Amino acid sequence: MTKQIRIHETGGPDVLRYEDATLGAPGPGQVRLRQTAVGLNFIDVYQRSGLYPLPLPSGIGLEAAGIVEAVGDGVADLRPGDRIAYAGGPLGAYADARVMPAGPLVKLPDAIKDEQAAAMMLQGLTAHYLIHRTCRAKLGDTVLLHAAAGGVGLIACQWLSALGVTVIGTVGSEEKAALARAHGCAHTILYRDENIAERVRDITNGAGVPVVFDSVGKDTWAASLDSLSPLGLMVSYGNASGAVPPFAVGQLASKGSLFVTRPTLATYMARREDLEAAANALFAVVADGTVKIAALQSYPLADAAQAHRDLEARRTSGSTILIP
Ligand code: NDP
Repeated sequence: MTKQIRIHETGGPDVLRYEDATLGAPGPGQVRLRQTAVGLNFIDVYQRSGLYPLPLPSGIGLEAAGIVEAVGDGVADLRPGDRIAYAGGPLGAYADARVMPAGPLVKLPDAIKDEQAAAMMLQGLTAHYLIHRTCRAKLGDTVLLHAAAGGVGLIACQWLSALGVTVIGTVGSEEKAALARAHGCAHTILYRDENIAERVRDITNGAGVPVVFDSVGKDTWAASLDSLSPLGLMVSYGNASGAVPPFAVGQLASKGSLFVTRPTLATYMARREDLEAAANALFAVVADGTVKIAALQSYPLADAAQAHRDLEARRTSGSTILIP
């Protein structure tokens, strides 16, 4: 028997049900895992609430770390006892044990603890592709990063600043501003009180920024476009405040021949070699101390509903894990 969280309907945090389940043996290409830490991500909220529709009932959660207990036929490179983590594959990471395909699993180096892995795989792989593949940020660039004190935010602040990129970060409170600055964010904007585009123009002497990383969506979309320099790139990668409403493409012309992309982690990690390259790059910057990872919030798995409430109410900073 195992414990897992499932949803039978979409809605508020109360639809998360803590249930008993039975675990079978892993089939061909599958592994059975004992999970030690589970990652909480904002996409879990979109899936639970129905913003991203799912066939129901459904498991929930995309990220965890743990130990391989058994492998099915055809799984050549994993064996019982291996420490692993993943960020992707079928939903169902909110569980103390599970059977899943081996494809998304990566082995953990000794330098990475289980709780760090669960706190960073999904958000760190996202930061990696945004910084290195979506825009190729480099020394001397200045970028605008929304929700800079969030899970993806604190990782991206550290990684960008280590590359010599000046980060302008938006945050929801003075406490989050201090946290973002302590993680390499050069300038913070309190976007509940301040005009984002005006502050960006002040900081950049009127030029605007060549790249905006926008995970907030509806509430920041317009200000993000107004913060870009000509030929700038709008990276709309999330919608914590709600989905971006339809917009007229002509705006991109009138605001300076702008580019817009709406990337997903799944697309960027679809090829195994890309997943391994990104995971290795992430492990390297964490192991050498360039990017520090600590779960700033931890909840028992059974209290996942409270974790969702806190995440949605903007009470969390950095990464959050659930402990089975
Ligand atoms: P965060 O820890 O960043 O939490 C979301 C943060 O967004 C909040 O803490 C809050 O910070 C800010 N926010 C602004 N407006 C709202 C609002 N109305 N309601 C709630 N929060 C708001 O979450 P994650 O690190 O898990 O994810 C960050 C974003 O990145 C999410 O939008 C997520 O969907 C996206 N994402 C996209 C991926 C992709 O590949 N496309 C992959 C991974 C994540 P503050 O209080 O400072 O405003």
